[in-house]
Amino acid sequence: MLDDVLSSRPTRTLPILHKEWSTCTKCNLGERRITVDGHFVFGEGVTRSIMLIGEGPGVDEEKLGRPFIGKSGTFLRNVLQRLGMNDYYLSNLVSCRSCQPASDAEGKPIIRTNWETKLPEQVFKDEPPNPVQYGACSPRLYEEIYLVDPIVIVGLGQRPCEALLKRSVTIKALRGEATQIEVPGRGYQAVLTEKRREWRRAVKGITVQPVERFQVLYHFIPTFHPAFITRILRDGGDNEKKLFQQFVADLRKALKTYETYLEMVFGKVPMQHEIDDDRMFNDLQRDDT
Ligand code: SF4
Repeated sequence: MLDDVLSSRPTRTLPILHKEWSTCTKCNLGERRITVDGHFVFGEGVTRSIMLIGEGPGVDEEKLGRPFIGKSGTFLRNVLQRLGMNDYYLSNLVSCRSCQPASDAEGKPIIRTNWETKLPEQVFKDEPPNPVQYGACSPRLYEEIYLVDPIVIVGLGQRPCEALLKRSVTIKALRGEATQIEVPGRGYQAVLTEKRREWRRAVKGITVQPVERFQVLYHFIPTFHPAFITRILRDGGDNEKKLFQQFVADLRKALKTYETYLEMVFGKVPMQHEIDDDRMFNDLQRDDT
């Protein structure tokens, strides 16, 4: 009976999912999005590769409707490019911007002139989405993960890691610790792709595979949010370089998992990535100034 129901469902695709959620007002972030005429921000990138999941869109993403295109997003894309990571998919815990009106030291709202319209506008400060908001958005994210079918997922920052691991975490302690997460197939029977079946055979025991009906296990690597690293680079401090190196090491770990998959399944020999961390650190610091 259930099989009949499932087999009669129309084929699900990322564009269908995108369209279905683009007018969503399941939480108050959607109501705000409509009020300010902002964009719903869906994920983008290469499927069946490395999926990076952040908190949510910021001011630039809300304006243009694309993930990770603001300052910290550009920084992340730069780091990925320098690491030789060309196959990746970017998405967020929530698809609408989460923010609060910014106020000055006296508690008065901050107003500035919009550089485009030249009109005064209130400044909003990004804030992490709360559990009610990301809970409302989780069916979209789960189905997006299922349709993207990533080989490895990287959680960027505390909120995405807590939401996906379903427990509270301290990101500084947890980062870099490769684990697995269980994600529902959003009501669709979890099936392995042919390629992933080969992957399972090749590396039994440490692989992505369905654990039970409607649930899929994914490799997961937690790390810092790029906004945290860009702030650290801007403000400096004793640990600045160490935190940057940890962030890069976590991304390298994800790349290694993906390259292992490509080698085992497609026989693709990993490229030699001769990137000097010190040089990358200096270059990115320079980019930031
Ligand atoms: S954040 Fe997600 S659940 Fe909330 S309104 Fe936007 S799309 Fe809907």
